[in-house]
Amino acid sequence: MSHPPFEGFEGSYLGNRNVLQPGSRLECKICWWVYDPAQGDPQWQIAPGTPFADLPPHWRCPNCDCEPDQFLLLPDEAT
Ligand SMILES: [Zn+2]
Repeated sequence: MSHPPFEGFEGSYLGNRNVLQPGSRLECKICWWVYDPAQGDPQWQIAPGTPFADLPPHWRCPNCDCEPDQFLLLPDEAT
């Protein structure tokens, strides 16, 4: 339950997991890697169907190792 001093910017979910839907996809703003709940994250042994909000607290971007607070919420309509 840490609150980093970083305030984020427009598009960032600011660590507020209440805005996340179970199917929400989020994109790493540093390396653009996308977390898709339908896929999970094999690198962290996250099972497919796991919402971003349910990722373990020690989870990091599997591509650049940044914290989940650095992820941006993607609009649902993007396909
Ligand atoms: Zn990343």
